[in-house]
Amino acid sequence: MRKIQYAFATVLFLFGAMLVAQEEGTKKEPGHYNQSKFKQLYEEFATPNTYRSASGAPGPDYYQQQADYVMDIRLDDKNAKIYGEETITYTNNSPDDLEYLWVQLDQNVRAKDSKAPLRNGGGVPLADQPAAFAGKYLTTPFDGGFNIDYVKDASGRSLPYTINFTMMRVDIPKPLKSGEKISFSIKWNYNVPDHTVNRARSGFEYFPKDGNRAYVIAQFFPRMAVYSDIEGWQNHQFWGNGEFALPFGDYEVNITVPADHVLDGTGVLQNRKEVFSKEMIKRYEQAKKSYDKPVLIVTQEEAEAAEKGFSEKTKTWKLKAKNVRDFGFATSRKFIWDMQAVKLGSGDVMAVSMYPKEGNPLWEEYSTKAVAHTLKSYSSHTFDYPYPKAISVHAKNQGMEYPMICWNYGRPNENGSYSDQVKYGMISVIVHEVGHNFFPMIVNSDERQWGWMDEGLDTFMQYIAEQEFGEAYPEAIAPNKAYPSRRGAPAKIVPYMSGDQTTIAPIMSNPENVYQLGPNAYGKPATALNILRETVMGRELFDHAFKTYSQRWKFKHPTPEDFFRTMEDASAVDLDWYWRGWFYTTDYVDIGVKGIKKYYVSDKPNKEMRAYMAARNLTEADLRPLVYLAEEGGEDADPNLKGKSPSENSRTLKEFMMDNMTAAERAAVKEPKYFYEVTYDKPGGLPMPLIVEYTYADGTVKNITYPAEIWRKNDDEVKIVLASTSELTGITVDPKLETADIDTTNNSWPKEEQQNNFDKFKENIKGK
Ligand SMILES: [Zn+2]
Repeated sequence: MRKIQYAFATVLFLFGAMLVAQEEGTKKEPGHYNQSKFKQLYEEFATPNTYRSASGAPGPDYYQQQADYVMDIRLDDKNAKIYGEETITYTNNSPDDLEYLWVQLDQNVRAKDSKAPLRNGGGVPLADQPAAFAGKYLTTPFDGGFNIDYVKDASGRSLPYTINFTMMRVDIPKPLKSGEKISFSIKWNYNVPDHTVNRARSGFEYFPKDGNRAYVIAQFFPRMAVYSDIEGWQNHQFWGNGEFALPFGDYEVNITVPADHVLDGTGVLQNRKEVFSKEMIKRYEQAKKSYDKPVLIVTQEEAEAAEKGFSEKTKTWKLKAKNVRDFGFATSRKFIWDMQAVKLGSGDVMAVSMYPKEGNPLWEEYSTKAVAHTLKSYSSHTFDYPYPKAISVHAKNQGMEYPMICWNYGRPNENGSYSDQVKYGMISVIVHEVGHNFFPMIVNSDERQWGWMDEGLDTFMQYIAEQEFGEAYPEAIAPNKAYPSRRGAPAKIVPYMSGDQTTIAPIMSNPENVYQLGPNAYGKPATALNILRETVMGRELFDHAFKTYSQRWKFKHPTPEDFFRTMEDASAVDLDWYWRGWFYTTDYVDIGVKGIKKYYVSDKPNKEMRAYMAARNLTEADLRPLVYLAEEGGEDADPNLKGKSPSENSRTLKEFMMDNMTAAERAAVKEPKYFYEVTYDKPGGLPMPLIVEYTYADGTVKNITYPAEIWRKNDDEVKIVLASTSELTGITVDPKLETADIDTTNNSWPKEEQQNNFDKFKENIKGK
């Protein structure tokens, strides 16, 4: 073994010398060498500190604020209005003294005088939904802002406050010192919007046939802003796209609704006996033991009967939630309600669905099934779902998430029929919104600043959960097909990444400021993580690192750096080039095979080597024994040697083997007959692993993945030398379409004839 190594080392040394000679011979322009794409992200990243460690974990001084709420809420169903009173207890765990507090008034985005509709230029749209058209041009603006009745301290004295659009500064008599708590109360009301008209994230849908409303309610109360080591107060306005930044806390919420409504929301119901009938309690006890299918708590028949009630009486539903960052609820007479138990490592969780009859038969079939599957799938990749339940509520055109509860679209036609598209859309949105419990409800990133940290991570996990859903419920999807995920597979992001650069922003952008938020914050980061998992890191390293991030930051507030650093820290894979390319630029992937040259072994120096020797006054005798590769058909070629094995035509190699190796050792050496130099080029800006499938005349297929670092010294092209015992007949770059390569016409040698659409069309005509 040692001797052979020596022989290869000699040859390697010589190739190395020739490479240096070539590089010296062809001086490149400045910037050609690609170190910047592999440069560490020291300038882009915040400096690690005692709050956030360089490893990506929370540092020794990491802190977060706590906001606890006690609320009484009343829904006026007749006038679609919500009245509320809350007491917030705010704990200052930061090292800073706070002179004032910032409270979020999200509904003010719909105030009559809101600036939100005025900030969008852009001219006449291609088309509008009729309701949106009416809202924009024909009707007086909806008055949906908060009316604040008072802000008072614990002893009932008024606290001065200033409202700036969606943010309210509450001035406190003396600074809230580090480690101190303060309690204060707010009373308010607002008009609930019809969410089907103005695309609100929360509101009601009105059903004209029976005169009922179904409410999905969130952002309905003044909520504390986040104060952190990153932003101080995160009081960027809520303009509509940048979602929410919220501290954790405990909630005690009493919600009064018409007596014939049912209601579910964030937290554990405290007064089940007061609000459930005896029959409902019996069914609920059954559901807690039903692990394979949901049990109806309210049947469709019962819900249809309730639709006709319009009770004048009220009922109060009391909910308590621990360690959540927000609160949402859904209520209506129209809701059918089902539940089942889900077994997780840490205990049982209830998977719950609420839907009007308009959602059936789709919802009774798939909603709770999808909730249960999501909890299992996400838990296995992150941490066990820590809350007692997860509810999926059907709301027209909605897809919105809150702790333990979310709203989801997917409505059959009136006769109950539905297309595959509606079915898959519904399952996918449920997986996505239930999945948001993990990102950002528990791994509590700042959505106002970074859309991708929750949407991208969630969409990535959604892709995995959907594929697993297809495997778990093959009867639910087309036979022998994978689940048709809309996002996540590399090829799906190609149209976006290869599109008009003036409408593409890096992933590391604020969600308010980008065109195409869907692919920017959902599709591209999800695909980037999927490629990272499958192609760059491998599942084992990726999954461990991703789980480490999830566990380090559950019930905490991570930043992008915390994610990027943890993924490296837990895997020993340098990923700065990957984050830099995929997250900080709008570059795309395009790698191709440019050309191929054939060589044979020669003992005569070729032209470049002769120049190298001449420059150093060396003769062949000075250098022996040496092996050279001469290009077939090139000016140094000896036609007699073409296609011969190295030991047949290379005196030096043959002599070396005879002198240094036993007959058995010589027999074990695989003697290459063919030598090739393949040039790969990279028209795309993103460096990526070079994935190649080589096919040989004897039928062998060899797959080699060269690491992305192959591009580190030359961003344009690289040359690879191959030795083989059989003739090379084909090369395919990225044969399984793993990298989101935007142009595959340059991915093969010999170049495959690409049929254009017109040719295909002609062929089709002929066939008919
Ligand atoms: Zn989402």
